[in-house]
Amino acid sequence: MASSSTSLKRREQPISRDGDQLIVTPLGAGSEVGRSCVYMSFRGKNILFDCGIHPAYSGMAALPYFDEIDPSTIDVLLITHFHIDHAASLPYFLEKTTFNGRVFMTHATKAIYKLLLTDYVKVSKVSVEDMLFDEQDINKSMDKIEVIDFHQTVEVNGIKFWCYTAGHVLGAAMFMVDIAGVRILYTGDYSREEDRHLRAAELPQFSPDICIIESTSGVQLHQSRHIREKRFTDVIHSTVAQGGRVLIPAFALGRAQELLLILDEYWANHPDLHNIPIYYASPLAKKCMAVYQTYILSMNDRIRNQFANSNPFVFKHISPLNSIDDFRDVGPSVVMATPGGLQSGLSRQLFDSWCSDKKNACIIPGYMVEGTLAKTIINEPKEVTLMNGLTAPLNMQVHYISFSAHADYAQTSTFLKELMPPNIILVHGEANEMMRLKQKLFTEFPDGNTKIMTPKNCESVEMYFNSEKLAKTIGRLAEKTPDVGDTVSGILVKKGFTYQIMAPDELHVFSQLSTATVTQRITIPFAGAFGVIKHRLEKIFESVESSTDEESGLPALKVHERVTVKQESEKHISLQWSSDPISDMVSDSIVALVLNISREVPKIVVEEEDAVKSEEENGKKVEKVIYALLVSLFGDVKLGENGKLVIRVDGNVAQLDKESGEVESEHSGLKERVRVAFERIQSAVKPIPLSAS
Ligand code: ZN
Ligand code: ZN
Repeated sequence: MASSSTSLKRREQPISRDGDQLIVTPLGAGSEVGRSCVYMSFRGKNILFDCGIHPAYSGMAALPYFDEIDPSTIDVLLITHFHIDHAASLPYFLEKTTFNGRVFMTHATKAIYKLLLTDYVKVSKVSVEDMLFDEQDINKSMDKIEVIDFHQTVEVNGIKFWCYTAGHVLGAAMFMVDIAGVRILYTGDYSREEDRHLRAAELPQFSPDICIIESTSGVQLHQSRHIREKRFTDVIHSTVAQGGRVLIPAFALGRAQELLLILDEYWANHPDLHNIPIYYASPLAKKCMAVYQTYILSMNDRIRNQFANSNPFVFKHISPLNSIDDFRDVGPSVVMATPGGLQSGLSRQLFDSWCSDKKNACIIPGYMVEGTLAKTIINEPKEVTLMNGLTAPLNMQVHYISFSAHADYAQTSTFLKELMPPNIILVHGEANEMMRLKQKLFTEFPDGNTKIMTPKNCESVEMYFNSEKLAKTIGRLAEKTPDVGDTVSGILVKKGFTYQIMAPDELHVFSQLSTATVTQRITIPFAGAFGVIKHRLEKIFESVESSTDEESGLPALKVHERVTVKQESEKHISLQWSSDPISDMVSDSIVALVLNISREVPKIVVEEEDAVKSEEENGKKVEKVIYALLVSLFGDVKLGENGKLVIRVDGNVAQLDKESGEVESEHSGLKERVRVAFERIQSAVKPIPLSAS
């Protein structure tokens, strides 16, 4: 583990065109903010990071460019957090495309995802044909979403991944993916700053080969939290003190919780404000608070300590507001309302009725998506268009006080310098802002070994990796570190893209596999003398041991201590061995040799045929052939003093009279085998004189 103050060692990864191609293609959030969705492909594995919609568009136009990919080829879909620009096209992708891979998110993200999207479907007033999905689709998608804990490693089809706390909002994760040893970090939205309720993003303990990182804040630096909070409370205090109303358009979740904690604390410290009501107008608020309370343990120490005394999500000075009809607008007040972009809904209704009065104030507390009214009023236009189509003067004070939970330039550059990824891909940023960030980051990595890429939507970034094949020893084999030149032998087990070498008897301990020995046994016809086999085998193999089979009493041979060759009967021999590549090979060659011996009889006859010229010559030839065949069958064959052929097999002796065919031997088995063999040889050579005449 590296401490946060030191750089992680960069993984040396030679990049050449020879390696395996890795492709990253943003289907959304490429040089824009909204509809985050990044496709990645490497060594036949396909991953999708996030599945958002663009808040400024509606219907199909709000979706990422799913047409660019074949959803059925995606192995894994990883969702970083519940914000709609990261998760809201998920019901569509799961229910209306051919995707049949697996989808993961953290527990908290899954819980809030459901509440948020159900609300999104109800609130977004779009025509039926523009509806991307309904509540039923959301419910069905819930069954398909699998949950992952922070730091839990999951493997799907050889793709390994795990996640780290990303700060930003409750449950937000950044994902590290490992495919064949190549690591990709996808940050999603992240913040390295701890706030009142969330922990800061973790620094991963591994340096990734590629870091796909958000660039929302570009080169901006956040004001210190102390200054931001003071500006925020000062504006509110002075506005309500002068009888004005304060509107804070906010996203349903995330920053809203942080701002409510600040307000409640400020009101508690200022009794003079107690008669001024604060409302939190989000239909979702109550439900989501319950989720937040459930996940209180995953929040930071401060919140957990507070929770031990009193629940920090039970606000003393803040009341819920369900609709504008319940709101008695009679004097100064503070209302935090959704949506954050002022597109529609409660925040927009209040804006429309308050915007013309200069006593009132509107505080934009976070990032504004391009194309929303919140973004427009930052530039303080003289007039605005109301929801009813009329125009009205914009007299209310507009303040932008960023409580953005996105990393600013200082956080981003420090984070990247600590991780030292050789490849950086910027996503989730407005195009100009992103280019400024790219230029400035180049100055931070002057060595020229860091690539910074800013692909647009549907634009692929290609990289090449020589994915290493590293085999690790495990168990007994790992007890001793081998010296250079030592040979380590064991069983190589491949699982996904990882290789392990283990002792065969430990296979069942470290893998799902088990070992078994296959005993092979074959019987092949062989009518010759067993001694011939021995004789031939000794010419080929270094180790041929003779023995006698205990059961049958017949001769047996052990070749290379692997294969046992036994005489089964007069007409058959058998081979038996424990199957392994070498023994299989040895036994194959024994079988070939034995079959060859059996074939030699007719073969020699054919070869000699043309050479036969006369009866006399033929007689000599026949004698030679008989002799050769006997040698091939019995091995040791000599001409005795009495003119008979002396045949020795395994210490037994037989004498053969070539003229009469009579055999003499004390060994009845051998006697019979020689007699049969001679009869066959004779019948084999007989046709020769006939054909020659
Ligand atoms: Zn977000
Ligand atoms: Zn986002």
